[in-house]
Amino acid sequence: PVEYVSTPIREQGKIVGAVVIFKDITERQIVERMKNEFVSVVSHELRTPLTSIRSALGLLTHGSLKNQPAKSQRMLEIAFDNTNRLVRLINDILDIERINSGKVTMEKQNCNAAELMTQAVDEMQAMAEKAEINLILAPVETHLWADPDRIIQTLTNLLSNAIKFSQPRSTVYLSAKLQDSQIIFQVIDQGRGIPEDKLETIFGRFQQVDASNSRNQGGTGLGLAICRSIVQQHGGRIWVESNLGDGSTFYFTLPVSNQ
Ligand code: ADP
Repeated sequence: PVEYVSTPIREQGKIVGAVVIFKDITERQIVERMKNEFVSVVSHELRTPLTSIRSALGLLTHGSLKNQPAKSQRMLEIAFDNTNRLVRLINDILDIERINSGKVTMEKQNCNAAELMTQAVDEMQAMAEKAEINLILAPVETHLWADPDRIIQTLTNLLSNAIKFSQPRSTVYLSAKLQDSQIIFQVIDQGRGIPEDKLETIFGRFQQVDASNSRNQGGTGLGLAICRSIVQQHGGRIWVESNLGDGSTFYFTLPVSNQ
């Protein structure tokens, strides 16, 4: 699609020609369409928990649950859980928008890969224990030029998914290796795996392999999109290899610091 502006050229009052400027507006239209789609998906995602909160509070305020303490308690729990979900959604949406629009600059500094990996594993230990997952760390000693908080955020997001989509008593590994002037992080699980046609799409916003199942797990479908934005802002790449039913390995690369 094109847009054009035309200016007539006059000589003694007569139009003798025109200058026409054509502009390709394809890109602008695509951006506009993506924005509209994002707004409609966000509205839908926010409406679901809000509707649950409203119905739960409605039952409590209309008095229909009078003298039913157990049911009333359950309604409060539903309202509370869904409020938490709303907060998570809004935080994730703000985070991804700020990263993508360049409003958050990565605070890049010289950091130690092994320390970041250890910190990420420490943060996930409690969740792993609760899910009876064996969390194993094989760190690599190297220096990175990166924003430490954002790299830990990426690692904990990937570890939390690996734990979430695995069965009790299985193992999740976090390791890394050096290749050329890059470090490649790997988060390996023995969980349910990802179908081939979803290997790319899950990095998009609100994309989940099985929406109902993941939402029960408290997911928003934004975690991997945030990881991708962070990794890209560091000049790295993120991808996954998986066989359905046979576990997944998430990889991401970062440039090694030469300082
Ligand atoms: P969330 O986990 O909040 O749903 P993510 O963006 O982190 O959102 O992940 C998107 C989807 O990708 C998940 O809902 C799940 O379907 C799939 N997925 C991510 N990590 C794994 C994994 N380790 N094993 C299996 N499926 C995964």
